[in-house]
Amino acid sequence: MSQSVLLLDKIKIEKLMLHYASFKVSRNAPGVVFAAKLPDAAITAYKSGKVLFQGGGALREAAIWGNADGQPSTKNPNVKGETLPEGFSGLSVLGSDETGTGDFFGPVTVAACFVSSDQIELVRELGVKDSKQLNDDLMRRIAPDLQETLIHSVLTLTNEKYNEVQAKGWSQGKIKALLHNQALKHVLRKMNGEKPDYILIDQFAERGIYYNHIKNESEIIRENVLFSTKAEGLHVAVAAASITARVAFLEEMDRLSAVAGITLPKGAGKVVDEAAAKILLKNGEAALKAMTKWHFANAQKAKKIAAMKR
Ligand code: MN
Repeated sequence: MSQSVLLLDKIKIEKLMLHYASFKVSRNAPGVVFAAKLPDAAITAYKSGKVLFQGGGALREAAIWGNADGQPSTKNPNVKGETLPEGFSGLSVLGSDETGTGDFFGPVTVAACFVSSDQIELVRELGVKDSKQLNDDLMRRIAPDLQETLIHSVLTLTNEKYNEVQAKGWSQGKIKALLHNQALKHVLRKMNGEKPDYILIDQFAERGIYYNHIKNESEIIRENVLFSTKAEGLHVAVAAASITARVAFLEEMDRLSAVAGITLPKGAGKVVDEAAAKILLKNGEAALKAMTKWHFANAQKAKKIAAMKR
Protein backbone atom coordinates (compact mmCIF):
# COMPACT_ATOMS: atom_id res chain seq x y z
CA MET A 1 0.00 0.00 0.00
CA SER A 2 1.32 3.40 -0.87
CA GLN A 3 1.61 6.01 1.84
CA SER A 4 2.91 9.47 2.44
CA VAL A 5 3.59 11.46 5.62
CA LEU A 6 3.61 15.24 5.81
CA LEU A 7 4.36 17.58 8.69
CA LEU A 8 1.88 20.44 8.50
CA ASP A 9 1.30 23.57 10.55
CA LYS A 10 -1.89 24.32 12.45
CA ILE A 11 -3.45 26.44 9.73
CA LYS A 12 -2.82 23.80 7.09
CA ILE A 13 -4.35 21.14 9.34
CA GLU A 14 -7.43 23.28 9.88
CA LYS A 15 -7.75 23.72 6.13
CA LEU A 16 -7.29 19.99 5.66
CA MET A 17 -10.04 19.23 8.19
CA LEU A 18 -12.38 21.56 6.36
CA HIS A 19 -11.40 20.13 2.98
CA TYR A 20 -12.18 16.55 4.05
CA ALA A 21 -15.10 17.39 6.38
CA SER A 22 -17.58 15.38 4.35
CA PHE A 23 -15.31 12.30 4.52
CA LYS A 24 -14.71 12.55 8.26
CA VAL A 25 -14.65 9.33 10.28
CA SER A 26 -14.17 8.94 14.02
CA ARG A 27 -10.91 7.40 15.17
CA ASN A 28 -10.10 6.90 18.81
CA ALA A 29 -6.42 6.12 18.42
CA PRO A 30 -4.07 8.11 20.68
CA GLY A 31 -2.90 11.46 19.33
CA VAL A 32 -5.33 11.50 16.42
CA VAL A 33 -7.05 14.87 15.95
CA PHE A 34 -8.82 14.12 12.69
CA ALA A 35 -9.41 11.20 10.35
CA ALA A 36 -11.09 10.94 6.95
CA LYS A 37 -11.82 8.06 4.62
CA LEU A 38 -11.98 8.67 0.88
CA PRO A 39 -12.90 5.96 -1.64
CA ASP A 40 -9.20 5.33 -2.29
CA ALA A 41 -7.34 7.04 0.55
CA ALA A 42 -7.32 7.23 4.35
CA ILE A 43 -6.10 10.45 5.96
CA THR A 44 -5.07 10.67 9.59
CA ALA A 45 -3.92 13.88 11.27
CA TYR A 46 -2.02 13.73 14.57
CA LYS A 47 -1.59 16.26 17.38
CA SER A 48 2.12 16.45 16.46
CA GLY A 49 1.25 17.94 13.07
CA LYS A 50 2.02 14.72 11.22
CA VAL A 51 -0.53 13.72 8.62
CA LEU A 52 -0.57 10.21 7.26
CA PHE A 53 -2.01 9.48 3.79
CA GLN A 54 -2.61 5.81 2.94
CA GLY A 55 -4.06 3.88 0.02
CA GLY A 56 -4.11 4.13 -3.77
CA GLY A 57 -4.92 7.84 -3.72
CA ALA A 58 -2.40 8.68 -0.96
CA LEU A 59 0.18 10.44 -3.13
CA ARG A 60 -2.44 12.40 -5.00
CA GLU A 61 -4.04 13.62 -1.78
CA ALA A 62 -0.68 14.30 -0.08
CA ALA A 63 0.36 16.37 -3.11
CA ILE A 64 -2.51 18.74 -2.35
CA TRP A 65 -0.85 19.67 0.95
CA GLY A 66 2.84 19.23 0.25
CA ASN A 67 5.15 18.03 -2.51
CA ALA A 68 6.32 14.48 -3.13
CA ASP A 69 9.37 14.97 -0.92
CA GLY A 70 7.16 15.61 2.09
CA GLN A 71 8.00 19.31 2.17
CA PRO A 72 4.97 21.51 2.65
CA SER A 73 4.17 23.25 -0.59
CA THR A 74 3.48 26.96 -0.68
CA LYS A 75 1.78 26.73 -4.05
CA ASN A 76 -1.97 26.72 -4.60
CA PRO A 77 -2.96 23.46 -3.02
CA ASN A 78 -5.46 22.26 -5.59
CA VAL A 79 -4.57 19.07 -7.37
CA LYS A 80 -7.25 18.01 -9.79
CA GLY A 81 -7.14 14.87 -11.78
CA GLU A 82 -7.46 11.14 -11.83
CA THR A 83 -6.73 8.55 -9.19
CA LEU A 84 -3.18 7.35 -9.56
CA PRO A 85 -2.27 3.72 -8.88
CA GLU A 86 -0.51 2.73 -5.67
CA GLY A 87 3.17 3.57 -5.47
CA PHE A 88 2.89 5.70 -8.57
CA SER A 89 5.97 7.83 -7.89
CA GLY A 90 8.13 4.66 -8.05
CA LEU A 91 6.81 3.30 -11.35
CA SER A 92 8.24 3.67 -14.88
CA VAL A 93 6.43 6.69 -16.24
CA LEU A 94 6.39 8.76 -19.38
CA GLY A 95 5.47 12.30 -18.38
CA SER A 96 4.67 15.41 -20.39
CA ASP A 97 4.31 19.12 -19.74
CA GLU A 98 4.27 22.39 -21.65
CA THR A 99 5.30 25.98 -21.09
CA GLY A 100 5.06 29.41 -22.72
CA THR A 101 1.30 29.52 -23.11
CA GLY A 102 0.93 32.61 -20.90
CA ASP A 103 3.85 34.56 -22.36
CA PHE A 104 3.27 37.14 -25.10
CA PHE A 105 6.84 36.73 -26.33
CA GLY A 106 8.24 33.37 -27.25
CA PRO A 107 7.06 29.95 -28.30
CA VAL A 108 4.92 27.24 -26.80
CA THR A 109 7.11 24.29 -25.94
CA VAL A 110 6.12 20.77 -24.93
CA ALA A 111 8.38 18.03 -23.62
CA ALA A 112 7.87 14.39 -22.80
CA CYS A 113 10.41 12.38 -20.75
CA PHE A 114 10.50 8.69 -19.90
CA VAL A 115 11.89 7.81 -16.48
CA SER A 116 12.12 4.08 -15.77
CA SER A 117 11.77 2.99 -12.16
CA ASP A 118 15.52 2.35 -11.92
CA GLN A 119 16.31 5.86 -13.18
CA ILE A 120 14.19 7.69 -10.59
CA GLU A 121 16.99 8.00 -8.02
CA LEU A 122 19.45 9.24 -10.64
CA VAL A 123 17.01 11.82 -11.96
CA ARG A 124 16.51 13.10 -8.42
CA GLU A 125 20.27 13.29 -7.95
CA LEU A 126 20.57 15.35 -11.12
CA GLY A 127 18.57 17.95 -9.24
CA VAL A 128 15.02 17.33 -10.37
CA LYS A 129 13.92 16.69 -6.79
CA ASP A 130 13.09 20.28 -5.97
CA SER A 131 11.58 21.26 -9.30
CA LYS A 132 9.19 23.68 -7.58
CA GLN A 133 12.07 25.75 -6.23
CA LEU A 134 14.19 25.63 -9.37
CA ASN A 135 14.91 28.91 -11.08
CA ASP A 136 15.67 29.37 -14.76
CA ASP A 137 19.46 29.24 -14.32
CA LEU A 138 19.36 25.97 -12.38
CA MET A 139 17.02 24.47 -14.95
CA ARG A 140 19.39 25.44 -17.74
CA ARG A 141 22.15 23.58 -15.91
CA ILE A 142 20.11 20.46 -15.24
CA ALA A 143 18.44 20.13 -18.64
CA PRO A 144 21.48 18.89 -20.64
CA ASP A 145 22.04 16.05 -18.15
CA LEU A 146 18.38 15.09 -18.31
CA GLN A 147 18.41 15.10 -22.09
CA GLU A 148 21.52 12.93 -22.08
CA THR A 149 20.04 10.48 -19.58
CA LEU A 150 16.41 10.18 -20.57
CA ILE A 151 14.52 9.14 -23.66
CA HIS A 152 12.70 12.35 -24.41
CA SER A 153 11.13 14.58 -27.02
CA VAL A 154 10.91 18.35 -26.95
CA LEU A 155 8.86 20.39 -29.39
CA THR A 156 9.07 24.12 -29.96
CA LEU A 157 6.13 25.72 -31.74
CA THR A 158 7.57 28.93 -33.16
CA ASN A 159 5.54 32.13 -32.99
CA GLU A 160 5.10 32.16 -36.76
CA LYS A 161 3.56 28.71 -36.71
CA TYR A 162 1.58 29.49 -33.55
CA ASN A 163 0.05 32.62 -35.12
CA GLU A 164 -0.74 30.71 -38.29
CA VAL A 165 -2.72 27.95 -36.54
CA GLN A 166 -4.27 30.39 -34.06
CA ALA A 167 -5.60 32.43 -37.00
CA LYS A 168 -7.15 29.21 -38.34
CA GLY A 169 -9.17 29.09 -35.14
CA TRP A 170 -7.14 26.62 -33.09
CA SER A 171 -7.49 27.20 -29.35
CA GLN A 172 -4.50 27.00 -27.02
CA GLY A 173 -6.07 23.81 -25.69
CA LYS A 174 -6.00 22.22 -29.13
CA ILE A 175 -2.47 23.41 -29.79
CA LYS A 176 -1.27 21.96 -26.50
CA ALA A 177 -3.12 18.67 -26.95
CA LEU A 178 -1.65 18.13 -30.42
CA LEU A 179 1.86 18.87 -29.17
CA HIS A 180 1.55 16.60 -26.14
CA ASN A 181 0.26 13.76 -28.30
CA GLN A 182 3.11 14.28 -30.73
CA ALA A 183 5.81 14.40 -28.05
CA LEU A 184 4.45 11.25 -26.39
CA LYS A 185 4.34 9.52 -29.76
CA HIS A 186 7.98 10.41 -30.43
CA VAL A 187 9.16 9.06 -27.09
CA LEU A 188 7.19 5.82 -27.43
CA ARG A 189 8.75 5.35 -30.86
CA LYS A 190 12.25 5.85 -29.44
CA MET A 191 11.47 3.30 -26.70
CA ASN A 192 11.44 0.58 -29.35
CA GLY A 193 8.56 -1.45 -28.02
CA GLU A 194 9.36 -1.03 -24.34
CA LYS A 195 6.24 0.30 -22.59
CA PRO A 196 5.99 2.70 -19.66
CA ASP A 197 3.79 1.52 -16.78
CA TYR A 198 1.83 4.74 -17.23
CA ILE A 199 1.80 7.99 -19.13
CA LEU A 200 1.08 11.06 -17.01
CA ILE A 201 0.08 14.34 -18.65
CA ASP A 202 0.23 17.48 -16.56
CA GLN A 203 -3.43 18.29 -16.90
CA PHE A 204 -4.50 21.41 -18.80
CA ALA A 205 -7.83 19.97 -19.94
CA GLU A 206 -10.13 17.17 -18.86
CA ARG A 207 -9.54 13.83 -20.56
CA GLY A 208 -12.62 14.12 -22.81
CA ILE A 209 -11.68 17.59 -24.01
CA TYR A 210 -8.08 16.55 -24.59
CA TYR A 211 -9.08 13.60 -26.77
CA ASN A 212 -11.67 15.67 -28.61
CA HIS A 213 -8.90 18.11 -29.61
CA ILE A 214 -6.82 15.36 -31.18
CA LYS A 215 -9.61 13.16 -32.57
CA ASN A 216 -8.52 13.68 -36.19
CA GLU A 217 -4.89 12.69 -35.59
CA SER A 218 -3.72 9.55 -37.35
CA GLU A 219 -2.08 8.21 -34.19
CA ILE A 220 -3.62 8.92 -30.80
CA ILE A 221 -1.80 7.89 -27.62
CA ARG A 222 -4.42 6.43 -25.27
CA GLU A 223 -2.96 3.41 -23.54
CA ASN A 224 -2.41 3.87 -19.77
CA VAL A 225 -2.70 7.65 -20.03
CA LEU A 226 -3.50 9.53 -16.81
CA PHE A 227 -4.12 13.23 -16.24
CA SER A 228 -3.40 15.26 -13.13
CA THR A 229 -2.69 18.88 -12.31
CA LYS A 230 0.53 19.57 -10.39
CA ALA A 231 1.79 16.34 -11.90
CA GLU A 232 5.42 17.44 -11.53
CA GLY A 233 4.97 16.68 -7.83
CA LEU A 234 3.56 13.22 -8.51
CA HIS A 235 6.36 11.75 -10.64
CA VAL A 236 9.85 12.95 -11.56
CA ALA A 237 9.12 12.15 -15.23
CA VAL A 238 6.74 15.11 -15.37
CA ALA A 239 9.17 17.27 -13.39
CA ALA A 240 11.89 16.37 -15.93
CA ALA A 241 9.52 17.17 -18.80
CA SER A 242 8.62 20.46 -17.17
CA ILE A 243 12.30 21.46 -16.89
CA THR A 244 13.04 20.33 -20.44
CA ALA A 245 10.13 22.31 -21.87
CA ARG A 246 11.08 25.37 -19.83
CA VAL A 247 14.68 25.33 -21.04
CA ALA A 248 13.56 24.95 -24.66
CA PHE A 249 11.38 28.00 -24.10
CA LEU A 250 14.29 29.95 -22.60
CA GLU A 251 16.57 29.02 -25.48
CA GLU A 252 14.07 30.26 -28.05
CA MET A 253 13.63 33.43 -25.97
CA ASP A 254 17.43 33.90 -26.12
CA ARG A 255 17.33 33.58 -29.89
CA LEU A 256 14.43 36.02 -30.23
CA SER A 257 16.08 38.47 -27.81
CA ALA A 258 19.15 38.50 -30.06
CA VAL A 259 16.93 39.22 -33.06
CA ALA A 260 15.09 42.00 -31.21
CA GLY A 261 18.26 43.47 -29.75
CA ILE A 262 16.73 43.56 -26.25
CA THR A 263 16.13 40.96 -23.57
CA LEU A 264 12.53 39.96 -24.08
CA PRO A 265 10.50 39.92 -20.87
CA LYS A 266 8.37 36.94 -19.88
CA GLY A 267 4.69 36.96 -19.03
CA ALA A 268 2.07 39.34 -20.36
CA GLY A 269 2.26 42.38 -18.08
CA LYS A 270 3.07 46.07 -18.54
CA VAL A 271 6.81 45.50 -18.99
CA VAL A 272 5.91 43.29 -21.92
CA ASP A 273 3.75 46.02 -23.50
CA GLU A 274 6.63 48.49 -23.20
CA ALA A 275 9.16 46.12 -24.73
CA ALA A 276 6.75 45.26 -27.54
CA ALA A 277 6.20 48.98 -28.27
CA LYS A 278 9.96 49.47 -28.54
CA ILE A 279 10.29 46.65 -31.05
CA LEU A 280 7.29 47.98 -32.97
CA LEU A 281 8.94 51.39 -33.34
CA LYS A 282 12.37 49.99 -34.16
CA ASN A 283 11.61 46.94 -36.30
CA GLY A 284 7.97 47.22 -37.36
CA GLU A 285 4.86 45.15 -36.91
CA ALA A 286 5.88 42.10 -38.93
CA ALA A 287 9.03 41.70 -36.84
CA LEU A 288 7.08 41.98 -33.59
CA LYS A 289 4.42 39.56 -34.77
CA ALA A 290 7.08 36.96 -35.59
CA MET A 291 8.18 36.79 -31.97
CA THR A 292 4.84 37.05 -30.15
CA LYS A 293 1.48 35.40 -29.66
CA TRP A 294 -0.22 38.01 -31.73
CA HIS A 295 -3.80 37.47 -30.52
CA PHE A 296 -2.87 38.46 -26.94
CA ALA A 297 -4.19 41.86 -25.80
CA ASN A 298 -0.55 42.97 -25.47
CA ALA A 299 -0.38 43.54 -29.23
CA GLN A 300 -3.04 46.26 -29.16
CA LYS A 301 -1.59 47.81 -26.00
CA ALA A 302 1.85 47.95 -27.61
CA LYS A 303 0.40 49.65 -30.68
CA LYS A 304 -1.20 52.31 -28.48
CA ILE A 305 2.04 52.95 -26.60
CA ALA A 306 4.00 53.12 -29.86
CA ALA A 307 1.46 55.54 -31.40
CA MET A 308 1.95 57.93 -28.48
CA LYS A 309 5.72 57.82 -28.85
CA ARG A 310 5.86 58.25 -32.59
MN1 MN B 1 1.80 22.12 -16.93
